[in-house]
Amino acid sequence: MTQPVPHTARPVRRQRSASRSGVVLRRWKTPKGDLIVSLLTPQGKLRAIARGGLRGKHAGALNLFHHVGLQVYARPGDELAVIQQASLEGALPRLALPERHPYAHLLAELADLLFQEGEADEYGQQAFDLFAGALRGVAHHHDPEWVALVMSYKLLALAGFPQRTRMCARCGAADPQHPDPFGGELLCGRCSHQRALSPSSLDFLRGVVRRSVRENMDHPVPAEDRAPLWLGLERFVGVQVGRVRSWPHLHAG
Ligand SMILES: [Zn+2]
Repeated sequence: MTQPVPHTARPVRRQRSASRSGVVLRRWKTPKGDLIVSLLTPQGKLRAIARGGLRGKHAGALNLFHHVGLQVYARPGDELAVIQQASLEGALPRLALPERHPYAHLLAELADLLFQEGEADEYGQQAFDLFAGALRGVAHHHDPEWVALVMSYKLLALAGFPQRTRMCARCGAADPQHPDPFGGELLCGRCSHQRALSPSSLDFLRGVVRRSVRENMDHPVPAEDRAPLWLGLERFVGVQVGRVRSWPHLHAG
């Protein structure tokens, strides 16, 4: 952070107890009954363990999508920081609504996959702000699906996975307009047997990274044209980043 550090302070990496603040991306119980949480913080991703789960006043804080403040204890060589205290700093109850929850789940899973622990220092704050804004949008915007599409592509680009949209992913021809069923990018008419994307879908794919979130939100692709965008996103993430389990919920809905 920017606060001056007194010369008597230990270097941060040797500090044992630390305060962290972030949004819960994933949580799971170990067979021993410990609770492990993955959080996105302005300093990057953090995984920490609550031994024996959390009881009493801390128990409800570590739910999915909650913004929490943690007191963690890390010994050199430990794989996971140990959570000593957890407090709720903010929650978005509307994310529990059935028409919104799948999109929040997808974004959290994507962020967990995209951002690694111990890196992201240069763009950590940006990634955190983008993700926190995405959850707020999914909670409150009248079109949570569009928020999720825009923010998924934005998060991918920020993490270093922008889609190529100016050249056919297979032959390099200019101005590709057809979906690539394998890689999720775009193909020219000679390389694809699938129908071309709609003009607004193409405009979105070609402009989403360059345009601001607000500009993207103001020009939504019609809902009936979004299925190929979701499919492309799923394929692209699967090939470039890794497996996301949240997609089937979207296609089922
Ligand atoms: Zn081609």
